[in-house]
Amino acid sequence: MKCSKCNKKVEKTFLDKPKGTYIRTKGKLDLICSECQKEESNNKK
Ligand SMILES: [Zn+2]
Repeated sequence: MKCSKCNKKVEKTFLDKPKGTYIRTKGKLDLICSECQKEESNNKK
C-alpha cells in the first residue's frame, strides 16, 4: 500500500494493518502514512 499524499510505501504492522491512517477525501477513503497524518493534523489547526 502506498501513501496517497507522498506516494511513499506505507509499512504494515505485524497485524497486517497499515502504519498510517485513512482520511476521507471527496467521499472516498485514502490511506496516508503517519508523517502525512501529522501534517494533516497540523493543517487543521
Ligand atoms: Zn505520506
